[in-house]
Amino acid sequence: GVSIRLENCSKTFADGNRALQPLDLEIRAGETLVLLGPSGCGKTTTLRMIAGLEFPDEGGRILFGDEDVTRLPIEKRQVGMVFQSYALFPNMSVAQNVAYGLKVQKCAKAEIRQRVDEMLQMMELSHLAERKIDQLSGGQRQRVALARAIITNPRVLLLDEPLTALDAILRDRLRADIDRLLRSLGITAIYVTHDQEEAMALGDRIVVMDHGRVAQIGTPKQIYFQPQSDFVADFIGQINAFEGEVRDQWMTLPGGRLHCPHLADGEARVYCRPEDIELVDSDSVDAHLQGVVEQTQFVGDRNRLWLAGIMPRQVLVESSGRVEFAAGQRVGIHVRSEKMIALEPR
Ligand code: ADP
Ligand code: MG
Repeated sequence: GVSIRLENCSKTFADGNRALQPLDLEIRAGETLVLLGPSGCGKTTTLRMIAGLEFPDEGGRILFGDEDVTRLPIEKRQVGMVFQSYALFPNMSVAQNVAYGLKVQKCAKAEIRQRVDEMLQMMELSHLAERKIDQLSGGQRQRVALARAIITNPRVLLLDEPLTALDAILRDRLRADIDRLLRSLGITAIYVTHDQEEAMALGDRIVVMDHGRVAQIGTPKQIYFQPQSDFVADFIGQINAFEGEVRDQWMTLPGGRLHCPHLADGEARVYCRPEDIELVDSDSVDAHLQGVVEQTQFVGDRNRLWLAGIMPRQVLVESSGRVEFAAGQRVGIHVRSEKMIALEPR
């Protein structure tokens, strides 16, 4: 794979809508970079600029390695693409779809045959080689789309929400397959999704986007454990915000006190993930904060509990799925200071 650089790439559409603010981004050779953000934040536009389906505003530059590709159309960039909708040729067989790129490149028949066979084998599609696309399941179609995209050895693989249309179990399996595939190929890949879990599972690094800007770039762990803004903290998984006045290491809240040895006196805000909050008996000495269970949700491996009385907003806590809680029950919670996420004051 090749490294990719976007320099000062903004995008304003003909209707005057500025979808992307000036963006600088580097994708390292061989890495999987995930573009993550809510719908409309500019992920697809960024990907289409890298593909050569859109061009940046005046002054923007796109480099593949040392080569300036800013004005090259897609067919000259050697990119592979996979979309949410499969964009396969419905009247051709699986093998013909996979062979397509090699035919365009005018490869010899025998070579095409051999490379298609190998690719079908690698993608576990050999038994479906002669099937028509409309006789395949969604997951099988996405495997064909992947095979078709990588068979030509593209310099970069671009994937735009390839799993979004699939059901949960299939999505999980194909996600693991894509992870293995990208790693074994060592190809540079840019993967667009609005799903935080998918982003963390697949990305070497994640770019969190918000309204056409980069909100944060980092490894999945940096993004999850060290969000640098309210937006990132809120967008990546569930999080609770505790806000109040700190004095002598204790923050006073409606439901009690929170021990914050790392915070100076004054107004402050800290975040804590639901899985990092400990539930304790309400009369325990560790019950620094007291709340009432307002709603519970059993999701198998865990219970999710929404507590009232601790903050003006409900606090979300998770516990083992084997412990019973009832609405109306009083509980205590305990938050270890090392589990808290403190943001720079706004
Ligand atoms: P995402 O993929 O993150 O959902 P997009 O990149 O598709 O976001 O879109 C970003 C913004 O640009 C949105 O406000 C969208 O409406 C706008 N947009 C996308 N394509 C066009 C277009 N061809 N013309 C005008 N506006 C567009
Ligand atoms: Mg999109």
